[in-house]
Amino acid sequence: MSDFDAIVIGAGAAGLFCAGQAGQLGLRVLLVDHSERIAEKIRISGGGRANFTNRDLDVRAPQRHFIGDNPNFCRSALSRYTPAQFIALVERHGIAYHEKHKGQLFCDGPSQQIIDMLLAECAAGSVTHWQPCRVDAISRTADSTFHVDTSRGTARAPRVVIATGGLSIPQIGASDFGYRVAAQFGLRVVAPRPALVPLTFGGDAWAPYAGLAGLALPVRIQTGEKKTRMAFLEDLLFTHRGLSGPAVLQISSYWRAGAPITIDFAPDTEIHDALVSAKQRSRKLTANELATLVPSRLADAWVGQLPSLQRPINEAPDRALAELAERVARWQITPSGSEGYKKAEVTAGGVDTRDLSSQTLESTQRGLYFIGEVVDVTGWLGGYNFQWAWASAHACAQAMAAGHTPAL
Ligand SMILES: Cc1cc2nc3c(=O)[nH]c(=O)nc-3n(C[C@H](O)[C@H](O)[C@H](O)COP(=O)(O)OP(=O)(O)OC[C@H]3O[C@@H](n4cnc5c(N)ncnc54)[C@H](O)[C@@H]3O)c2cc1C
Repeated sequence: MSDFDAIVIGAGAAGLFCAGQAGQLGLRVLLVDHSERIAEKIRISGGGRANFTNRDLDVRAPQRHFIGDNPNFCRSALSRYTPAQFIALVERHGIAYHEKHKGQLFCDGPSQQIIDMLLAECAAGSVTHWQPCRVDAISRTADSTFHVDTSRGTARAPRVVIATGGLSIPQIGASDFGYRVAAQFGLRVVAPRPALVPLTFGGDAWAPYAGLAGLALPVRIQTGEKKTRMAFLEDLLFTHRGLSGPAVLQISSYWRAGAPITIDFAPDTEIHDALVSAKQRSRKLTANELATLVPSRLADAWVGQLPSLQRPINEAPDRALAELAERVARWQITPSGSEGYKKAEVTAGGVDTRDLSSQTLESTQRGLYFIGEVVDVTGWLGGYNFQWAWASAHACAQAMAAGHTPAL
């Protein structure tokens, strides 16, 4: 005899949403989380205002904004639970929101409103919530009942949903629990790696640029060979250790160790043409002319590296101007690494989608589901990761309810 119809482990974005939905569909649900505080990642997300979805997600081709070994895996869930549906839920709960940039929707008030909404949805589904509660072991009996041993005792159910997220930000409860459960049940895991993360550069190589810390500007950034090339037009931020800002976070998810990234600091300008024309009409210093096209700190740093350009632009050698233009429009640099899980917004990789159903998120082990960030599906910056959490949770809850016969 089971105590519950489903046990959801991990009460973050995906787990809370799945538990509430499944409960409202008639399942007796237990939701377990080891953290003291509820849904810390939602609370700190979007600078405290939770970028909870993205209106630009293309429901006919949602995979465009996601990466993973099988980019098409996320299509089914994302097209069956859309941003419009989550927005309708947010509106039903009276949460005010606004669009900031490129379809990104944020709460007007604190992100706690989204947590309260998810908790209210769980209450509406009569979800039992054990938190903080440590999970010690999961086992399955011959009659396919899962036993989940916890610090509050053993709970039994025919279904277990793993929603424990990735490795990012261990200081607020992230753990490798989901990958360990996958391995225990013989499922494959795509090696996890930090994504949406600032990139770092080796000490000496970075020395000429360390003085630019704090400088932010719009750039075009790209990485990858012809076939796999990915590019973003976004803001970049120089830091003491390397590069950050939305442009770099986005490209970091595609960057592979040892590969260079290329940055165009003047994406809207034909920089070589502009310098050649300045040479014909101006007697200003080259750095001052360049400063009309890019921020002056950047202009000083770039011109400072070319001794033959320490003079008025009309005296600048053509070859040196061409070299300067090349450096500004196609600066190629190879990161030595990233800031790692301490700073990464998400973890790429995760439970291998070859071992999961894209329709239901059930694994090849009957009754064992994986949803949210623990799966090898990673969204772009801008609300896509939460949308994946909601959509995968929804697909899982629907599937569990469809296969469930309510007790009389
Ligand atoms: C600083 C920051 C800002 C972000 N901002 C945004 C944003 O604005 N928009 C967006 O779309 N995405 C954002 N993200 C990403 C987003 O937060 C995650 O992708 C999303 O929360 C994943 O949902 P999840 O439910 O899979 O995992 P999580 O929300 O991480 O939840 C996992 C839960 O599992 C629990 N858990 C872990 N291990 C165990 C265990 N062993 N036993 C029991 N419980 C366990 C954790 O305590 C946690 O509550 C941000 C991430 C960070 C770090």
